Amino acid sequence: MRANLLDYDLEALARFCERLGEKRFRAVQLFRWIHQRGVSDFDAMTDLAKSLREKLKVAATVQALTVISQYESTDGTIKWLFNVGAGDAIEAVYIPEADRATLCVSSQAGCAVGCRFCSTGHQGFSRNLTVGEIVAQLWYAEHFLRKHLARDERIISNVVMMGMGEPLQNYAEVLPALRVMLDDHGYGLSRRRVTVSTSGMVPSMDRLGRDCPVALAVSLHAPQDLLRDDLVPLNKKYPLDDLMQACERYLAVAPRDFITFEYCMLQGVNDTPAMAKELVALLSRYGGGRTSWCKVNLIPFNPFPASGLLRSPMAVVQAFARTLTDAGIVTTVRKTRGDDIDAACGQLAGEVKDRTGVMVRMDRRKATGANALRSVDQQSAELVYVAQ
Ligand code: SF4
Repeated sequence: MRANLLDYDLEALARFCERLGEKRFRAVQLFRWIHQRGVSDFDAMTDLAKSLREKLKVAATVQALTVISQYESTDGTIKWLFNVGAGDAIEAVYIPEADRATLCVSSQAGCAVGCRFCSTGHQGFSRNLTVGEIVAQLWYAEHFLRKHLARDERIISNVVMMGMGEPLQNYAEVLPALRVMLDDHGYGLSRRRVTVSTSGMVPSMDRLGRDCPVALAVSLHAPQDLLRDDLVPLNKKYPLDDLMQACERYLAVAPRDFITFEYCMLQGVNDTPAMAKELVALLSRYGGGRTSWCKVNLIPFNPFPASGLLRSPMAVVQAFARTLTDAGIVTTVRKTRGDDIDAACGQLAGEVKDRTGVMVRMDRRKATGANALRSVDQQSAELVYVAQ
């Protein structure tokens, strides 16, 4: 079987070239042809010796993903659905803004974490993506966009691993993919502009900090364990105190001097004034007492029927944001993008063959979760759970 060169970071490609009896520097040329110029045909790599090109044709391929569909929003957002075989499809979303162009990529076909407010979580988990399948999303988007926008320069300036999947549950494949993104001979992205988003895989956060400290976003969504256990089930394994301490450790190596916390606003569940105060109290307990150690990104929820949850009204989101900013915490409200093509966070519509029995688990959690939320309700006397 031929090797897919999209599976290799530069070091792995150098080892591959050595196995072909070629000098390591050939790997740099090859890497640049593939990632910087988007070339997959070895015959077109004209500065490689003909003998090497012949060897590559026998031993290797540059295996892109097949596009199932592409949707372009009126605001310029583009969403691709890629076929990753065996009935699984994943998504990547391109989001152009005035000062940056971001690609949101997937790391798994489905997701095993099963967050209540996330449509991917409701689909269950099929498998981890390979390095090549993660990199192929960037490879395809970057080189498609250069042609589409008729620009002979780098288009994508930022990558966020916030698509389908929990990246840190696929660490072995995500790490080389990050290295390809950062490599000057690859996409040359700055560590500050590559963000891994995690729902709280504490040991892997520490590993990432040691191996490849890119920017970190944490899916928080609740300021207390009882509620977070229900919304983000990984919290039962790594509760808030463990998670926040891991964030503090990460901060020491992070390329930016803050960690971003994502907080999806769910009407009557986590958006009350009492919850806002609890969130301030939680974040103030960490970071050495300085509020600048974190930023909070409030995300308007995009409702989907199976969730049984509703989007918080904008006035509630703004009041919540005010409580945080009054406490000195930098807070943003995520703009919804690509609404007309369903490209918003938590709305990724890739389809996967679930291998985890997610529907049974979700139904069980909806029942126990309603109880958990009722006890939160008793504590705060403000919470109204949106019944299934
Ligand atoms: S929010 Fe992220 S971690 Fe949670 S289910 Fe969705 S993809 Fe998985």
